[in-house]
Amino acid sequence: MTTQDYIKREEKFGAHNYHPLPVVLDRGEGIFVWDVEGKRYFDFLSAYSAVNQGHCHPKIVNALIEQAKKLCLTSRAFHNSSLGEYEEYITKYFGYDKVLPMNTGVEGDETALKLCRKWAYLKKGVPQGKAKIIVCENNFHGRTITIVSISTDPDARKDYGPYTPGFVTIPYNDIPALEKELQDPDVAGFLVEPIQGEAGVYVPDEGYLKKAYDLCKNHNVLFIADEVQTGIARTGRLLACDHENVRPDILILGKALSGGVFPVSAVLADDDIMLTIKPGEHGSTFGGNPVAARVAMAALEVVREEKLSENAVEMGDLFRRELRKIDSGMIETVRGKGLLNAVVIKPTNGKTAMDVCLKMKDNGLLAKPTHGHIIRFAPPLIINREQLLEAAGIISESIKSFD
Ligand code: PLP
Repeated sequence: MTTQDYIKREEKFGAHNYHPLPVVLDRGEGIFVWDVEGKRYFDFLSAYSAVNQGHCHPKIVNALIEQAKKLCLTSRAFHNSSLGEYEEYITKYFGYDKVLPMNTGVEGDETALKLCRKWAYLKKGVPQGKAKIIVCENNFHGRTITIVSISTDPDARKDYGPYTPGFVTIPYNDIPALEKELQDPDVAGFLVEPIQGEAGVYVPDEGYLKKAYDLCKNHNVLFIADEVQTGIARTGRLLACDHENVRPDILILGKALSGGVFPVSAVLADDDIMLTIKPGEHGSTFGGNPVAARVAMAALEVVREEKLSENAVEMGDLFRRELRKIDSGMIETVRGKGLLNAVVIKPTNGKTAMDVCLKMKDNGLLAKPTHGHIIRFAPPLIINREQLLEAAGIISESIKSFD
């Protein structure tokens, strides 16, 4: 079968809810993936920052295989011999009293919102049905009905109403707007991405997270950080909130929590918040399954053992330096933190960010435009200097080919 045959089959039998680049991947190892025709590419998307540890990391894959041979799923109707060990490991790793395990990122966000509302009614004393949660414009937290209800992206929202009430939207990186909304005593939480990834890698002003956190504390409001994309070493610290020494009241993790091997997400909080949810009040058949538990422990060990945060700082600095050297009218801005970066493309001679991505694909590097004119660059965090320079060369050559 050719690339076109694979694509045609997906188009015929699969829903048309994605618009992938025309490449059919068959194999991955470390920072590279290979298509069905045997061509190798640098992966500069890392499955939207899920594959921070690199494709098919042997330690994580072995954890998956060993546990899968022994016991895969019990549901939470029974205890299993891996869950407690994982719960102890991850809570100590991130410094929280408790974890609530889920599977996908959006389930993590939904869990955090439910937890926040419970806390509002049981602890803060907000009148029933009145709790509000503040969210930001241009957020991305996933695709469920409630999560698209709080989205400001027309593509994510349109024709999915009626929308879930109980949310207030403010501009991102706007402290006065947050302060104003916090005057309402029914506000229970503030949900924020420390860097807005899907929106196009918007890095807020330095001090924004800390100021927002302090304001939340002053108003007895929970600071909820969605670190599904920014978390687990991607931005050069274990959590992006660590850059400002902010410890979220509720922390949401996903993606790289499994190194991309398996859907694993988690919500972390202290007892005062987490224990407001009682048995039977929330859950998931697959959440906390033994395979997920083993995979997540292995994935987190790799982050520490291979010093991925440190490498993300060093390689991220080098990457931005190299990209800023590219002499092209097509590059409007280069921005990012650690190895979560983006280039804003100015369409030139009718050529757009998508054309740049197609050219990079031909030249052996995969990345994807977001919001039409922004290209995100997020390679696995195990990339080394030589590989990074080669990749930056491909990006430079591809962009310059349009000048
Ligand atoms: N939150 C953020 C910040 C994300 O970037 C994403 C996915 O891109 C999600 C949540 C949703 O994760 P999932 O696709 O695993 O549901």
